Amino acid sequence: MTERLYYNQPELTGFQAIVVESTEGGRKVYLDRTAFYPSSGGQPHDRGEINGVAVLDVVDEEDRVAHILETPLAQPEVEGRIDWKRRFDHMQQHTGQHLLSAVLEEMYSASTVSFHMGQDVSTIDVDAAALSAEQLAGAERRANDLVFENRPVTVSYEDASEAQGLRKASGRTGTLRIVSIAGLDRSACGGTHVSATGVIGPILLRKVEKIRGNVRVEFLCGGRAIDQARADFDALGEIARAFSSPAAQTPALVSQLLARSQELEKSKRKLATELAAFQGRQLYEATASGDDGLRRASQRIISGGIPDELRAFAQKVSPLVRKRFFSPSAPIRPPCCWLPPATAEFMPEMSSNKCSTRAAAAAAATRNWRKAA
Ligand SMILES: [Zn+2]
Repeated sequence: MTERLYYNQPELTGFQAIVVESTEGGRKVYLDRTAFYPSSGGQPHDRGEINGVAVLDVVDEEDRVAHILETPLAQPEVEGRIDWKRRFDHMQQHTGQHLLSAVLEEMYSASTVSFHMGQDVSTIDVDAAALSAEQLAGAERRANDLVFENRPVTVSYEDASEAQGLRKASGRTGTLRIVSIAGLDRSACGGTHVSATGVIGPILLRKVEKIRGNVRVEFLCGGRAIDQARADFDALGEIARAFSSPAAQTPALVSQLLARSQELEKSKRKLATELAAFQGRQLYEATASGDDGLRRASQRIISGGIPDELRAFAQKVSPLVRKRFFSPSAPIRPPCCWLPPATAEFMPEMSSNKCSTRAAAAAAATRNWRKAA
């Protein structure tokens, strides 16, 4: 059985131990004691080094903790060193989760169903139909007030049959490790936590979404909350500079700009359609009939697909002419785009069946011509 030093000394960053077993060519190592936290209960594993060799993963195997190393160790007496920056961040997020879960339960009877600590943000899923923006802001205020009170966070060991007042009943038997936030919360947990709520630092609640009948609340604590607030302010500052206005006024300005942009887009489409109709009539009037009575016209598009304006143009030409045919008469680079007549109105001598046959033949001819060009 591995002695888990992090249970009672979560701030321990260095330790000495003996290798009791190694497998997988020496890359999987078991020690008599360890300060490395394995992935468990929503908290990711620690990283660090053992005798200078990188610890890539730490796995909880019930009685033992396995350390996955980058390379095998050279000797059985080892010194372990925890990546404290990563561990401390995890302690802030994890203790913040206990506090936030207790607050959501206390204020809205929303009990925590699951917890996930991500690389950038953490989430808890709570048993609630919905949480409004006001409720979220209220929970954030209450959580930060509890941080300011700097309440002690302590660990005790109690028999499962006697443990009282747990926020969530534990399914375990025997001795429970109970993490308490004074006067607020008691939870059975094997994770690493800070010693007082003040060490959690600021708690920032962000996105809320409905997931499988629960509500998922995204949150950041401590250093992550500071980093996010800085990134948010920088982004907002950039927008405010673009508007040359105070940051607080930018939401209203963005809304106005968006509405104006939608109006202009609508107006542009209307004008483009009117212009297409005008140009269609001009083209019809400027095109003389051939000996066979057909009026022939072509338009070359330099690159890209068929623009909306040309589509509108073709649509507007159609009702004006009795017969219309766009055809490549000579190799053009890049190949031209062919808009064959699509209704019997343009080819009244043909039935709709013949018309579609003719259109298919025309498309095939265009493809062959493109290959040749
Ligand atoms: Zn915990």
